Amino acid sequence: MLVSNRSCAKGFVWLVGAGPGAADLITLRGLKLLQSAEAVVCDELVNKELLQHCPQPCEVHFVGKRAGNHSATQPEINALLVKLAGAGKKTVRLKGGDPLIFGRAGEEMQVLRDAGIPFEIVPGVTAATAASSVARLPLTHRDHSSAVVFITGHQCAANTSALDWGALARLRATLCFYMGVRRLPEIARNLRAHGMAADMPLALVSEATLPAQKIQIGTLRDADEFSTELAGQPALVVIGEVVRLSSFVVEVPQLHAQAVTKA
Ligand code: SAH
Repeated sequence: MLVSNRSCAKGFVWLVGAGPGAADLITLRGLKLLQSAEAVVCDELVNKELLQHCPQPCEVHFVGKRAGNHSATQPEINALLVKLAGAGKKTVRLKGGDPLIFGRAGEEMQVLRDAGIPFEIVPGVTAATAASSVARLPLTHRDHSSAVVFITGHQCAANTSALDWGALARLRATLCFYMGVRRLPEIARNLRAHGMAADMPLALVSEATLPAQKIQIGTLRDADEFSTELAGQPALVVIGEVVRLSSFVVEVPQLHAQAVTKA
């Protein structure tokens, strides 16, 4: 059996944030690890251009939910990580955005701990900071927002919501909904029902930092009018007073559902 001289006795897993879309938004540390990986386990939302930095040979496993016909289940991904590292391979687990935000890193870390496999986390640019950067709006502001909340849209169905909408409506925070585009009308209804003003601005940013990036800005009142054609694309919903400060709002005076597409 051939054993690469780069193999660690026990293998190692780096959970690396690939960033939100544009390939050059990975950290330098993440890139260096990719350049010396022996195995890569890659999520769907990762920019595949990054894989050109893998050395030869390096085995690449695609486990994304939309990858081909087969989408690996989380237990299958966990087992793959244990198998690769257990075979002594320096393994990079490449995840979209930041691994610790809606990235199932908690489950993978637990499995690695249980298997006695050493691991490290390499942070990445998360979708909320990418979306706010391209929409040119601050997530916090001394006068308008003293907190940022990252929320999953999966928890937002009107009748089954486990969220404390009253608290969210009162917080004076910027609310960032991941995986929330399909639930946008329900999100807006819930917030309004709990006292948030109908003219609270909201931004919907899809494919932030990628060539097809699209930014729509409006208010809770017109949440139903936002483009739904994005349903298959990654998109982030930002709600809060800070959205008024977006340079797009200043440059485009009518607030309602202006679509701004990157040139
Ligand atoms: N760990 C990732 C989030 C994974 S959940 C991170 O830190 O960004 C996937 C969700 O992230 C998508 O459904 C979408 O809501 C958001 N997202 C990821 N990439 C995005 C992008 N380029 N533009 C807008 N939203 C994005």
